[in-house]
Amino acid sequence: MSDGMISYVLYGKEDLRPERRTVPEVKPGQVLIKVRRMGICGSDVHYFIHGYCGVFIPKRPFILGHEFAGEVAETGAGVKGVSVCDRVAVDPSYPCSICRFCRTGRYNLCDNMKYLGSASTDPHVDGAFCEYIAMPAANCYVLPDKIDYGEAALLEPLSVATHAVMRAGSVSGKSVLIAGGGTIGQLVLLVVRAFGSAHIVLSDIREAPRKLALNQGADHVLDATTDSMKGQALGIVEDGFDIIFEVSGSPAALGQAIDLVRRAGTIIQVGTLPSEVELPANMIMVKELNILGSFRFANVFSTAINLIASGRINLRPLITHTFPFGNFLSAMNLACGKENIIKVQVEA
Ligand SMILES: [Zn+2]
Ligand SMILES: [Zn+2]
Repeated sequence: MSDGMISYVLYGKEDLRPERRTVPEVKPGQVLIKVRRMGICGSDVHYFIHGYCGVFIPKRPFILGHEFAGEVAETGAGVKGVSVCDRVAVDPSYPCSICRFCRTGRYNLCDNMKYLGSASTDPHVDGAFCEYIAMPAANCYVLPDKIDYGEAALLEPLSVATHAVMRAGSVSGKSVLIAGGGTIGQLVLLVVRAFGSAHIVLSDIREAPRKLALNQGADHVLDATTDSMKGQALGIVEDGFDIIFEVSGSPAALGQAIDLVRRAGTIIQVGTLPSEVELPANMIMVKELNILGSFRFANVFSTAINLIASGRINLRPLITHTFPFGNFLSAMNLACGKENIIKVQVEA
């Protein structure tokens, strides 16, 4: 490892460079992980296309990537429960553990959260688009044999979806609309199905995600671009959906959700919306709606692992493309496209 490792470093808009860096040193309590599988997330794509992600504007080059799994290559002093050669999935969040949100278990809302591969804090936190990464052993989850690296690299987005579903309370027997069929929407579909929802409907403006959703167990899919969508939806659930997950980040979809949710129903906002949005807000009062946000995840990594290992959900159809590490830039360019792509992963 003395000649270092290749990392993919974001220098700016559409400027992602392979760069030789030193393999990180393992501090006490940490493990060194040989990264085996990386997933490209919508936020990575955002950083790549625009040079920034929402309000997070990089001040200097940093390594992207927060969805990954790998093999433990070295353990630091005092590490217990994780050994060399273990296959691990990794929680990419570093909450401070002392603020009031951390102390009440809602560490996704931490005042001082650091997140892998993110410019949300300064200094930025280097991510996992590299060959080796040092992580606290506490962030590592040893994988059961049944879970492969591809599935394991989907644990972070699956945790986002699981958290969103749990924000809704009990979903069993309830009618659910998922607005948006990208990775998180597809994962929400799998989780509500595993948790026993009835009448699961997914809407998207693109055909490929609708097709995939049907194959993955949606009862119906709707084309969100058509004027007849409302009529079709109400043909499925007469008085509206019990729960709607807004995953697309489209203001129109949130407005439509307020229209399509039943009285006293629940909307979970998971997608990233523009900062200002016009809404039929009076309906929130008239229909006594519960509108809740869902941000990243907390305390659900083990649940997500159980869902995969038990066979309750199958993530493999979501991995639509896999590239070798040397072709990282091709993977990123493909992930920037929209059609027929759910999750692009890179294998090392
Ligand atoms: Zn992600
Ligand atoms: Zn905190």
